[in-house]
Amino acid sequence: MIIAIDGPAASGKGTLARLIAEHLGYACLDTGLLYRAVARDVLARGQSLEDEEFAAQAARMIDTATLDDPELRSPGAGDAASVVAKFPAVRQALLALQRAFADQSPGAVLDGRDIGTVVCPDADIKIFVTADLAVRAQRRFEELRRRGDPVTLEAVTEILRLRDERDQSRADAPMRAASDADLLDTTEMDIEAAFDAAVGLIKRRIARLG
Ligand code: C5P
Repeated sequence: MIIAIDGPAASGKGTLARLIAEHLGYACLDTGLLYRAVARDVLARGQSLEDEEFAAQAARMIDTATLDDPELRSPGAGDAASVVAKFPAVRQALLALQRAFADQSPGAVLDGRDIGTVVCPDADIKIFVTADLAVRAQRRFEELRRRGDPVTLEAVTEILRLRDERDQSRADAPMRAASDADLLDTTEMDIEAAFDAAVGLIKRRIARLG
């Protein structure tokens, strides 16, 4: 069983993916961490994020044991990730790893931008999680403030807006909902309500899968 969860930054898709995986006893992969790690490794070697060949090489050599690095969770790492994520050679280098992860028993939940469209187009369940930009920015702002980051709401809003724009407009595997995805708008929901709604969607899909 493969569950694909896609959506823009700070939509709540990562938390949802983790909760759904825990609930079902499935493995979970936050694929954004792969792109974040590629960008980190490029910068650590003193190279430019705009160097596609170097970034692809970093993607081919990625060490998944380093994905729990707390530095990968910073807003800067997310931004850098979206720069290397536009390169087809980087995306191609990360494809096999993501598909191998998805292909495990009893099931896997993967969250990202292109899971339902490119990585696992045959996923059993696809959910595209959205929320208004203002709400996503407020959530991310509060999370960063709790961690002691002196950011402003305006700066967080602008960073998210630019990142979404970059992810939606790239030529290769742009962020978009698969035509057969269920949409889940969490604008008016807290995480408990979003989780309940997602479980409801999954149950309905499973019933239809027979
Ligand atoms: O999900 P997260 O915010 O950690 O992703 C960081 C960046 O990695 C995204 O803004 C996007 O550019 C890229 N990404 C992607 N495809 C995925 C997951 C993430 O292009 N499946």
